[in-house]
Amino acid sequence: GIGLGDHQLLGGRVIGQGSPGSFSAPLAGRIFEVASEDWSRRHLQNQLTRAPGVIDATLQGDAVRIVTRDAAPPDLNSVDAHLQCSPVTPRFEDAFIDRLHDGHPATASLTTHSRSPGTVIAVDRLGRKFGDFEAVKDLDFSIEAGEVFGLLGANGAGKTTTFRMLCGLLPPTSGRLQVAGFNLRHAPAQARARIGYMSQRFSLYQHLTVRQNLDFFSSAYNLRGGRRRERIDWALDEFELTRHASAESGSLPLGFKQRLAMAAALIHEPDILFLDEPTSGVDPLARREFWQRINSLAEAGVTVMVTTHFMEEAEYCDRLAIMAAGEILALGTPVEIKQGSLHAGERSIDMEEAFIRLIQHQEAA
Ligand code: ATP
Repeated sequence: GIGLGDHQLLGGRVIGQGSPGSFSAPLAGRIFEVASEDWSRRHLQNQLTRAPGVIDATLQGDAVRIVTRDAAPPDLNSVDAHLQCSPVTPRFEDAFIDRLHDGHPATASLTTHSRSPGTVIAVDRLGRKFGDFEAVKDLDFSIEAGEVFGLLGANGAGKTTTFRMLCGLLPPTSGRLQVAGFNLRHAPAQARARIGYMSQRFSLYQHLTVRQNLDFFSSAYNLRGGRRRERIDWALDEFELTRHASAESGSLPLGFKQRLAMAAALIHEPDILFLDEPTSGVDPLARREFWQRINSLAEAGVTVMVTTHFMEEAEYCDRLAIMAAGEILALGTPVEIKQGSLHAGERSIDMEEAFIRLIQHQEAA
């Protein structure tokens, strides 16, 4: 399903037509924000996904934003009696979810072994020049195991260049870089063995079948024999690709390509997963499913670093760095980033407004 201008299409049929506002209006009274003082927002989201009458649950600031089946506050007693639940305004995407869902929120999880805690990425004054042009300037940050860390920026901000350096695919021109306990300058192969990378264009072999692609990535990561078979079966099963195992990858719909690319990046059970715009071009339901998988990886201690252009995905991250022209303009939790850009007397702004203010502020300086 895709949204095209003021049409919504699914399976080749127009399932709705009208102005964007006319889609979200019927959702009035069905959108709520739920907060808990006792639980992490990820745990709360997992619980709400299973609550009766809830058809969608996503992270939003410190709270979880839900869509209910009926225009009434949800009965959350089965989840926890101490939740705060307040109504909020519908968005266009809510209407999309409402029309596409099959009665249950998108659920997906991953079976994966637990990792140990600690700092897994440490970046110290990292820089990259192309000739005289500084694509990345003096970056400093560190990321803990199990964190979902987002990199947000305009086109050309330096996100992909940063990623490629963190994955050991591009040498830095200055600074220090520690990934999974290894210095990338001295031990790039060891570091790379602990990393999974899903690139913007998914880098699948279009003329190979799904199974052949998984086989190729397994051999690239030195998986052999029984272990290789076990991991390929895991990938086919976990990402619901078994039925398509013999299909040519290039002929698959984008959502399936995305799943295959994620499966390939996870085939060797990496501790760190780098995702470069993993959801661009896929529909909101596939995005939901994708993020459910990210959440279960993070709960098992996998560190996830992700670039995105979607403001709502920025809200799903534990922390974010906002980049422009090779520099980090702001770094913190989604709530901290939004609060950091408030004008005097304002109570709240959304992520998009915070993003625009940060970029404008930099351009004016
Ligand atoms: P997008 O969102 O469009 O993917 P990005 O934030 O990932 O953008 P980068 O791809 O990292 O940005 O590019 C940062 C800057 O560095 C751009 O101005 C780009 O043109 C430049 N650049 C990237 N790779 C090279 C290269 N190999 N040679 C010269 N310039 C480069």
